[in-house]
Amino acid sequence: KQAQIGVTGLAVMGRNLARNLARHGYTVAVHNRNTQRVEDLVEQFGDEGDFVPARKPEDFVASLERPRRLVIMVKAGDPTDAVIDQFAPLLDEGDMIVDGGNAHFEDTRRREKALRKRGLHFVGTGISGGEEGALNGPSIMPGGSTEAYESLGPLLEDIAASVDGRPCCTHLGQDGAGHFVKMVHNGIEYADMQLIAESYDLLRRALGMEPAAIAEVFRTWNEGRLESYLIEITAEVLAHTDAHTGRPFVDVVLDQAEQKGTGRWTVQTALDLGVPVSGIAEAVFARSLSGHADLREAGQDLPGPSGTLSGAEADRFADDVEQALYASKIVAYAQGVHQIQAGSEAYGWNIDPGAVAAIWRGGCIIRARFLNRITESYEGGHAPASLLTAPYFRDAIGDAQDAWRRVVATAARLGVPTPGFSAALSYYDALRSRRLPAGLIQGQRDYFGAHTYRRTDTDGTFHTLWGADRTETES
Ligand code: NDP
Repeated sequence: KQAQIGVTGLAVMGRNLARNLARHGYTVAVHNRNTQRVEDLVEQFGDEGDFVPARKPEDFVASLERPRRLVIMVKAGDPTDAVIDQFAPLLDEGDMIVDGGNAHFEDTRRREKALRKRGLHFVGTGISGGEEGALNGPSIMPGGSTEAYESLGPLLEDIAASVDGRPCCTHLGQDGAGHFVKMVHNGIEYADMQLIAESYDLLRRALGMEPAAIAEVFRTWNEGRLESYLIEITAEVLAHTDAHTGRPFVDVVLDQAEQKGTGRWTVQTALDLGVPVSGIAEAVFARSLSGHADLREAGQDLPGPSGTLSGAEADRFADDVEQALYASKIVAYAQGVHQIQAGSEAYGWNIDPGAVAAIWRGGCIIRARFLNRITESYEGGHAPASLLTAPYFRDAIGDAQDAWRRVVATAARLGVPTPGFSAALSYYDALRSRRLPAGLIQGQRDYFGAHTYRRTDTDGTFHTLWGADRTETES
């Protein structure tokens, strides 16, 4: 029997994706370098659907109907190139290779270009949702050619999560568009997690609440506009008690956050594109700072305030934090959307931010109720200059900003670090400001480096003779 699609790379993600396809009635060829994984899959899950096990690459390719659809789910980086090199010579013109790993979009662009020359379609596809999502419905972010999507789209949309009857999968643009969007998704995920962590830290340190009580606060928030997967799991983690010590689980976990690199890629790319993703950058830096154990140990002697809130300030603080979290989260998404638009512009992808928000509503880590609002903001051909200027978000932040400012001020007063909240508020205030001090910076640059400046009142490029009589010259 010919398989409609094949999956090579059967670790957790590939195995679950293959099972998901089989459960949806597709005949799925399965292959893995170490063939034990093929045997295990067929033995444990063979009754879930039609699998065609293949021990050799040649058998795998031969078992696929044409044009062939082959999904690679291996470790990102060199292993992906190795697997492509192994399979590409076995394929024919018009065949499709889907890379569902966490590839860097520049690698995807390179691979797509090389394979296109050989007549093959290469479809870099972001997949979010972890192993659970891969099995039960991930958010799928495919790039690649329109022609390839016509063939692959129906299968991918079938196995993706779905919200309000719409699949969490859509063709995002050519070559690396899918992996670019997945990268920004992960960057936003970093920012979202950091903001939630700051909220927890504030409730704990400013109010002296215990993790179990804070879990209840998050549960309540999850019934409102903040409803999201990350808020939901935060409540679960905070409510968890360590079996060994009987202490709150969060207190026994080493407070040094790790990262695999997609947040860093987001920030590096944003720097190259000139997009200010300060919320995502602060989240990446906060993880990095947490890992500098020696530096933090040395910092224990540094002077600073401590203490908790009391009275009316304490009474309204949890509500204030909810508002600060919502406002900061909006800023983080506004920055991420800006990055997607800038990437789309730079690489010619024509990505619709509203469609991106729509496919993030289910399956992925940042799934959240409020994503509907982003989609709505871009509907009917509207493209606000920033998410922050779209009517819904403008009003939401307008309502939240007093509380947001109180929270940032309180954090500074009590000495609780809130890089995410503070950066988000500064970004917001920078957008609002009629004049920024960048005029002064241009003056400084012109003074020490003759870097020139432009004027507000006339066109042209100017330089002041700072070392002489300070007359202005036009250059
Ligand atoms: P891993 O990233 O741990 O990769 C293991 C798989 O890669 C195995 O099938 C392994 O084969 C194969 N592999 C490694 N090197 C080679 C090579 N040189 N040649 C052939 N095969 C090789 O697996 P995951 O399932 O965790 O992830 C798969 C991909 O999905 C990754 O790119 C990951 O970044 C991405 N991803 C993962 C998510 C997650 O939650 N885990 C979420 C979203 C995406 P063998 O068994 O023979 O060693």
